[in-house]
Amino acid sequence: MRPFGYLRVASVDEAVRAAAGQPGAQFLAGGTNLVDLMKLGVEAPRTLIDIGRLPLDRVEERPDGGLRIGALVRNADLAAVPAVRDRYPALSQALLAGASGQLRNTATTGGNLLQRTRCGYFQDVSKPCNKREPGTGCPAREGAHRDLAVLGHSAHCVATQPSDMAVALAALDATVCLHGPEGERTVPATEFHRLPGDSPERDTEIRLGELLTAVELPPARPGARSRYRKARDRASFAFALASVAAVLTVRDGTVEHAALAFGGLAHRPWRARAAEAVLRGAPATEETFARAADAELAAAAPLRDNGFKVPLARALAVGVLTDLAGRAGRAAHG
Ligand SMILES: Cc1cc2nc3c(=O)[nH]c(=O)nc-3n(C[C@H](O)[C@H](O)[C@H](O)COP(=O)(O)OP(=O)(O)OC[C@H]3O[C@@H](n4cnc5c(N)ncnc54)[C@H](O)[C@@H]3O)c2cc1C
Ligand code: SF4
Repeated sequence: MRPFGYLRVASVDEAVRAAAGQPGAQFLAGGTNLVDLMKLGVEAPRTLIDIGRLPLDRVEERPDGGLRIGALVRNADLAAVPAVRDRYPALSQALLAGASGQLRNTATTGGNLLQRTRCGYFQDVSKPCNKREPGTGCPAREGAHRDLAVLGHSAHCVATQPSDMAVALAALDATVCLHGPEGERTVPATEFHRLPGDSPERDTEIRLGELLTAVELPPARPGARSRYRKARDRASFAFALASVAAVLTVRDGTVEHAALAFGGLAHRPWRARAAEAVLRGAPATEETFARAADAELAAAAPLRDNGFKVPLARALAVGVLTDLAGRAGRAAHG
């Protein structure tokens, strides 16, 4: 075990100041990812800044009808908030599809978004890995990559983003709120996670020393329905092979609005803009939904062993959209 310092902070300003003044410091929230990675030798913070007692553990109504979710709201608590279950069911479903009951009781909103990839080479310090040690190579490309990316990967990294919640937030047009030495700023959830390009060591757009303070949801669209569905190797305790979050509004049999994001396919939640363009204004039929999924997944470039993810993601998207359209139709006819 490498020695490290420990500091508990009581305010956001104190947390930001502490991070700025301590090179090699990392924030500790629930610790369910960071502490595991410290035990594996993947992460070696010089100081842990414990943010667990900051007043960021509330879900608040916003004046515009949206919600503000504090960075320390636990995954289990967030999934159970009535306003989330009623107005943003895809978010509640994504949270409940992640990890296990015990982990969800500890894991936080901020930590969930900032958890690191589950690529086996990243977690094994005896192996090279561009994400852990830039410039050492990507053994996953030719090695074990069944679980890894089919969209948006690069020669430098083919890892996937592991958070289920992040996929729902991308489809729901959420915003990530950050507070750093240079002040506060916001980043759309769709832009928060990065594609790997030639700098896979950076998972997200967060800057050194910035604290994630909250996630904001816009007001739910009138008449919209949302859902999250995940395919995985086991029913619990397993990351997504592929997943989909969808928000759909149907009027008189026509798609008025659609937002779709895939998980398990890329280094970021994959907002499916090409699919959405096909859906908008089209008849809400299974044929349209299949065309939309195909339009998006035409960009897929599977590796040797993960081509199965493309038809899997297609089936998930078509199934979820068909279910949502069916429910919308039933609701319209009482
Ligand atoms: C066996 C197992 C199965 C799992 N399965 C799933 C799954 O299916 N789906 C899924 O989505 N997740 C899954 N998880 C991951 C789990 O959801 C994450 O470990 C958890 O959400 C991380 O939250 P945390 O609060 O414990 O973060 P921590 O471990 O405390 O922190 C994680 C990272 O975020 C940083 N950080 C935390 N909070 C902030 C903040 N507010 N501002 C800036 N930086 C911050 C930390 O410095 C650290 O780098 C699984 C985990 C395990 C162990
Ligand atoms: S896919 Fe990314 S995380 Fe995995 S070995 Fe390659 S560089 Fe490392």
